[in-house]
Amino acid sequence: MKLVSACLAGINCRWNGKAKPCQKVIELVRQGKAIPVCPEQLGGLTTPREASEQRGDKVFTKEGKDLTHPFEKGAEEGLKIAKLANCNEAILKANSQSCGSSKVFDGTFSGNLAEGDGVFAKLLKKNNIKVVSEE
Ligand code: SF4
Repeated sequence: MKLVSACLAGINCRWNGKAKPCQKVIELVRQGKAIPVCPEQLGGLTTPREASEQRGDKVFTKEGKDLTHPFEKGAEEGLKIAKLANCNEAILKANSQSCGSSKVFDGTFSGNLAEGDGVFAKLLKKNNIKVVSEE
């Protein structure tokens, strides 16, 4: 079983209230081989919500509001789902401050990327769940 970012499965859960459908991910869910999860919604954030980016180990909105706690809470809830369903691999949305793996936005809200993992991707990797992006 795989865990997948819900926005890749066509769920309108992104900060702007939209999805980023990926046909391969949608097929996996249709076949019962993947479970869609949005860690930001699981952390209690609204949809739509303010855009946010990581700075160090924390997450802030552009206006400087610290959203680290809901991001970490949502990652923990997502991990629970991964464990419940025995997921050993995750396909997560590239570049996201939650789901991005290897590269994330650099915290300047300028569209630039930096090396690093999103909050959810980092936690899954720490728990030996392989993370790849849809790319
Ligand atoms: S937190 Fe992950 S699943 Fe939710 S909208 Fe962002 S990239 Fe998609």
